[in-house]
Amino acid sequence: MTTIEHNLQSQHLRIREACQRFGRDPASVQLLAVSKTFGPDAVAQAVAAGQRCFGENYVQEGVDKILSLRASHPDVALAWHCIGPLQANKTRPVAEHFDWVHTIDRLKIAQRLSDQRPAHLPPLQVCLQVNVDGGANKSGVAPDEVAALAQAVAQLPRLTLRGLMCIPEPTSDFEAAKSIFESARDVFDAANASGLSLDVLSMGMSDDLEAAVAAGSTIVRVGRGVFGSRPLKA
Ligand SMILES: *Cc1c(COP(=O)(O)O)cnc(C)c1O
Repeated sequence: MTTIEHNLQSQHLRIREACQRFGRDPASVQLLAVSKTFGPDAVAQAVAAGQRCFGENYVQEGVDKILSLRASHPDVALAWHCIGPLQANKTRPVAEHFDWVHTIDRLKIAQRLSDQRPAHLPPLQVCLQVNVDGGANKSGVAPDEVAALAQAVAQLPRLTLRGLMCIPEPTSDFEAAKSIFESARDVFDAANASGLSLDVLSMGMSDDLEAAVAAGSTIVRVGRGVFGSRPLKA
């Protein structure tokens, strides 16, 4: 068994145990393998172990990997999620190659992605990034601006608005982490109560996925837990 296969099994076990502990259906929590900084070979090992969805932060690195895996595994359908901050001048390759974007925080980016999404592809699946803990230099829309942005994004023809994503400051305090994730869940519930139909909460990473599952996460984004520690760059 490869290390990556072993790691994937451990992460699935963690998710199952968290679901059991917090009364969640394990089928309602998806493991997104965050492959940033790792090469196509590492992704291929994860694919061999059954993993199908991958998260990338850097647009060019992600597009290179998408094309590489498409060439090496033409018969395997993979889903690629862009989870890094997006600048307006980088939206085109994202619209053309990725399946998901988790980091929408302004209408202009969403409009560009919708305009640039090729007609032969299904709509791009998107989440709004919410700045749940108010970090001043953090990306993400303020919780009280989510409803208006969500209503506008939901109108765009080539996007499908699926939910919310957040990246709180890391903390080793489980209850503190859970309560921040619950504030994202509250924004999510309020958006749905106002008539949207969101079904995705992208939250939780290698160090805090249990707290995120406790608060209702449906996609946990795990990098180091699957691929091992990253070089210092990221
Ligand atoms: C890097 C990254 C992850 C994965 O982080 P790990 O701590 O390696 O699990 C998840 N989400 C985002 C947005 C990231 O940038």
